[in-house]
Amino acid sequence: MDHFLYRDGELYAEDVPVADIAAAVGTPFYLYSTATLQRHYQLFDDALSGMEHMVCYAMKAASNQAILKTLADLGAGMDVVSGGEYARAKAAGVPGDRIVFSGVGKTRAEIRAALEGGIRQFNVESEPELLVISEIAASLGKTAPITIRVNPDVDAKTHAKISTGKSENKFGIPISKARAVYAEAAALPGIDVIGIDVHIGSQLTDLEPYELAYRKVAELTEQLRADGHNIRRLDLGGGLGIPYTRSNEAPPLPSDYGALIKRTVGYLGCEIEIEPGRLIAGNAGILVSRVIYVKQGEGRQFLILDGAMNDLIRPAMYDAHHDIVPVVEPEAGVEQQAYDIVGPVCETGDTFAKNRMMPPLQAGDLVAFRSAGAYGAVMASEYNTRPLVPEVLAKGDQFAVIRQRPDFDEIINRDTIPPWL
Ligand SMILES: *Cc1c(COP(=O)(O)O)cnc(C)c1O
Repeated sequence: MDHFLYRDGELYAEDVPVADIAAAVGTPFYLYSTATLQRHYQLFDDALSGMEHMVCYAMKAASNQAILKTLADLGAGMDVVSGGEYARAKAAGVPGDRIVFSGVGKTRAEIRAALEGGIRQFNVESEPELLVISEIAASLGKTAPITIRVNPDVDAKTHAKISTGKSENKFGIPISKARAVYAEAAALPGIDVIGIDVHIGSQLTDLEPYELAYRKVAELTEQLRADGHNIRRLDLGGGLGIPYTRSNEAPPLPSDYGALIKRTVGYLGCEIEIEPGRLIAGNAGILVSRVIYVKQGEGRQFLILDGAMNDLIRPAMYDAHHDIVPVVEPEAGVEQQAYDIVGPVCETGDTFAKNRMMPPLQAGDLVAFRSAGAYGAVMASEYNTRPLVPEVLAKGDQFAVIRQRPDFDEIINRDTIPPWL
């Protein structure tokens, strides 16, 4: 459930008409709902109740300061994958001991900054990284709390570009090598081994891969404890899928996911961490765009929008489906038409949908891409010198621009002319 619903014939974000925001901000823009963000965080928090736990929002899904603060105010931790995200989390007021640092290629500068600013743990992805963290921590007179990300060799059965838990993926350490690497870690001066980390992919619509992976983690926990390691925290990753269509998808509920966690690893008495991104932000955001032209092609009709692949790349990159709905509610029983829905960028990949049945639309009409809150604004670029899309946050009957649209000068002035020109 989200808070983008038709009311009196038009789409609302909570209690604000989307068309009013479009008039104030211009299109295209991302629009988030506070109540939906809060609700999704709460679902996870409730799902893990009864176990010591922390929900660490994977902020790469949507990392605007206002979104982070909304979640941090509820007690969320943050999962970061770069020094920039670490800085963003700190700037939003998240204390270091609620920030988890994931990612396969942490640089020395990133590791140092996190150790100096405070960190809940590093999720270590390789032996060389382990050595570097130990060296930097020791040089600062600190010990770095770490988990090691194990790769359980489980097929997440999701899109190949977002599957991370198979042995051929670049992520983590093969679970078969884990005991040796833990032994190595425990012997290092700057390292405090506290737990195990696993993350098998994104947009999982089936709980079975989690079941397989978490059973392997439970078994490994017992082995490592027998080896003398004090395994007291399990980071079980993110990846729970969301419905991208209203009609036929019913991904697992966070409550079922929580029950699965209790069933598979609950008996170990570890503190549980999870890192959901998409499920918290995905259906809490829409991309609002305006029809520029309706163009008659050979045997097809094009809906040309002012939003493009640089604003929302998921269809081009992952073949992703987004429901696209008119902001003015279609009359009941109106005859739908097939449209190819495209943006203005000079790439054939700039196609959001082919043969999409929509109520008749005209130039000037507003449409909304649903489920665009995660991996939307954060993946936007300025390709074609199209300014980064603004972001807006609604709360009840209020809304605020939480990232301004840059003007052309701002964009151009980032370039510098070398002295010989
Ligand atoms: C991307 C990522 C997540 C979040 O995945 P979602 O599918 O957005 O829930 C969590 N943990 C790690 C390590 C990730 O890379």
